[in-house]
Amino acid sequence: VPDVLTAFSKLILLLLEVAAAVSFLHHRYEEMVQALFRVQNECPYVTRIYSIGRSVQGRHLYVLEFSDHPGIHEPLEPEFKYVGNMHGNEVLGRELLLQLSEFLCEEYRRGSERVTRLVHDTRIHIMPSMNPDGYEVAAKQGPDSIGYLTGRNNANGVDLNRNFPDLNTFMYYNGEISGPNHHIPLPDNWKSQVEPETLAVIQWISNYNFVLSANLHGGAVVANYPYDKSQDTRFRSHRRTFNTPTPDDKLFQKLAKTYSYAHGWMHRGWNCGDYFADGITNGASWYSLSKGMQDFNYLYTNCFEITLELSCNKFPPEEDLERQWMANREALVAFIEEIHQGIKGMVSDENNNGIAGAVISVQGISHDVTSGDMGDYFRLLLPGTYTVTASAEGYQSQTVTTTVGPAAPSLVHFQLKQDVVRKPPEHKTSGSRMNKALQKKVVPRATHRRTQR
Ligand SMILES: [Zn+2]
Repeated sequence: VPDVLTAFSKLILLLLEVAAAVSFLHHRYEEMVQALFRVQNECPYVTRIYSIGRSVQGRHLYVLEFSDHPGIHEPLEPEFKYVGNMHGNEVLGRELLLQLSEFLCEEYRRGSERVTRLVHDTRIHIMPSMNPDGYEVAAKQGPDSIGYLTGRNNANGVDLNRNFPDLNTFMYYNGEISGPNHHIPLPDNWKSQVEPETLAVIQWISNYNFVLSANLHGGAVVANYPYDKSQDTRFRSHRRTFNTPTPDDKLFQKLAKTYSYAHGWMHRGWNCGDYFADGITNGASWYSLSKGMQDFNYLYTNCFEITLELSCNKFPPEEDLERQWMANREALVAFIEEIHQGIKGMVSDENNNGIAGAVISVQGISHDVTSGDMGDYFRLLLPGTYTVTASAEGYQSQTVTTTVGPAAPSLVHFQLKQDVVRKPPEHKTSGSRMNKALQKKVVPRATHRRTQR
């Protein structure tokens, strides 16, 4: 009989555990942290919680990681990230990412084929709040607040999506897209010019070789892709709305459409009094934004980031949260799956040692990516046939032609022979001279539009 009782009480405990789901309520900081640790406790073998640093007021910027080997980068397994609540008063992303965390955990536990594959093949990093201080300010006002901007900024009053080093300006030097648009070096004094939250994120994205990400906002319903900053900022009195595509424009459009069409209504285009065909927009063609996070990801790292505007109401009432989750659930999962396309592989030397920092160039798309610490690289591409070159200092370049299908990434490995005669290293003096000249010209500008991503 005691055995039966033990089994029975275990069952009750199990049921209670399931019942303690992330509820459709707004989560203050302590509650958010508890929710993250509850998920970690429910799925201990495929999750890890870490902090990338602290906010101005000392709150941790927590990340929940999903992987079959948490804490470890496995070669050829791409790194994905979601960042929510960068604007403290735009709270839906924060709640959606808590729901997503629990969803991934529960689906994994119940053996869902789709989520199991996703967790085994991808390292997923989820940061529900990049601006926990701003959130607390907004949450004190509550959903019915009329103070539209209350809590948007961090505790120093800075808009974090206007706080990243302006790398676009280096690229648009002399009014022309003349400089490189990838791995642009940071200005020497960048650390003293950014907020603690921004600093933490820059160090984070420098330490992980992220491939794809999304930054979740509110105030409109649209999937927004780079560039956010238009090239021509000379006509300051006019509305600066110039379509400013990246060399990966078609790919970005497809990524954005993946989200908008998997979303309940984003793809319809008419939302919150605005119209966006297919529910997507180039950032600068909507309005130009300087020092944003998504352009920074593209120009400084290997990561392709888009910005998701998810609700007209920045602080929706709790009654709306479940409906919002149902509208976004499939889109949030489908967007992660987009990381598995294009080409990936190892760049190694003749002794099969991985070469870190090797440059992968695709003919016809002037945006290079680099290999990670272990020599693995990931290059998102649309289906098609591509000529791809791998090069690394001290090695002979290697070029191959490969075909990319729609379903899974093609594996393209490179084994580079050492240069017989070492070439002198390519110097980047023109780049750094340009940096110095431009540092003075970078002037943050406030824009005054109803909706600001
Ligand atoms: Zn925003």
